[in-house]
Amino acid sequence: LLGADGRPGTTVFAEMSALALATGAINLGQGFPDTDGPAEVLAAAREAIGAGLNQYPPGRGTAALREAISRHQHRWYGLEVDPATEVLVTAGATEALAAVLLAFVEPGDEVLTLEPAYDAYGALVALAGGVHRTVPMAWPDFRPDPERLAAAVTDRTRIVLLNTPHNPTGTVLDEAALRAVVAAAARHDALIVTDEVYEHLLFDGVRHVPVATLPGAEDRTITISSGGKTFSTTGWKIGWLTGPERLVSATLAVKQFLTYVNGAPFQPAIAVGLDLPDEVFAGIAARLQAGRDALAGGLGAAGFPVSTPQAGYFLIADGAPLGFPDATDLCRRLPDLAGVVGIPVAAFCRGQQAEAVRSLVRFAFCKSPAVLAEASERLAALR
Ligand code: PMP
Ligand code: GLN
Repeated sequence: LLGADGRPGTTVFAEMSALALATGAINLGQGFPDTDGPAEVLAAAREAIGAGLNQYPPGRGTAALREAISRHQHRWYGLEVDPATEVLVTAGATEALAAVLLAFVEPGDEVLTLEPAYDAYGALVALAGGVHRTVPMAWPDFRPDPERLAAAVTDRTRIVLLNTPHNPTGTVLDEAALRAVVAAAARHDALIVTDEVYEHLLFDGVRHVPVATLPGAEDRTITISSGGKTFSTTGWKIGWLTGPERLVSATLAVKQFLTYVNGAPFQPAIAVGLDLPDEVFAGIAARLQAGRDALAGGLGAAGFPVSTPQAGYFLIADGAPLGFPDATDLCRRLPDLAGVVGIPVAAFCRGQQAEAVRSLVRFAFCKSPAVLAEASERLAALR
């Protein structure tokens, strides 16, 4: 976790957000929306503060939120989740990931992820003393080979850590890939942990299948999500996990010493969000899909080949055809060249795989139409 000079490393998100602030460039790096989410959710937080919900909430999370999470899992996926024993509220999905990995990974245990992988995965596996193994996904379609994924699970694998919809690629894993993971995890008695924070940000009619809904998965699967992405409240850090009681209890044992509890007035507000009608969720996804298409159009007009993500906040562009073979170098220069900030996809990869994605840049499209239009105009200057 330390840089070559022995000092703590900074995440690429922090580095690029600082660069955007320093240069006044449009920040399409770190993934956070530039407009507020549903007004009901914001009002509910204000009300909760006014009503005095400002002290430590219960360790597992407030009853209102745990019950709303249980209703949500049933409404969208048909899953039965006991709000008393099978839900744990966490300080964002990040703390859920940290607590799960610290609870179940012993030194030397392997954790298998896709690659590119969200940057916290490798860092948290290292904190737990585990060994991070990966299965690559390649530009431009970024789909894992189910057989390769299954074959990568061995008796050394403690956890298969999935992320669907996936950051940074926007891939939504299909049932074939998920079934291969469930069968392999059962064969080798591995746990499945699935990070589904982008579960509602789906485009083009694509369906999200939670691993926990597949036969044979429920007993060994912990499902993680967060209110930050769906309700544009990334700064509130209200996340959660659901799963079998024994797995949730072991995770709670760790969480209580990480943060103890978190976000008292924000928890009932996210509960209000989770109970909003289907149309609200559809509207959130539709606005993001329009953002994806606007930015893809702008990047395309500037000459970049771009990926077509099925979900999430991000798309990926290739700098090589424009004469930028090294995206890390391009991202450091992009504020000067075009007044825009992006993130090199290599930040989500290691070694050979980082080499394979060397010219790729991740851009966030969770921004207002005017900002995406301005960014597109600026990027056109690169042509
Ligand atoms: N997992 C993935 C795949 C993410 O992209 C993010 C944040 N963007 C997180 C987890 C962290 O979520 P939270 O902010 O709720 O901790
Ligand atoms: N998950 C967001 C992203 O991928 C934010 C990450 C962060 O700041 N750690 O951009």
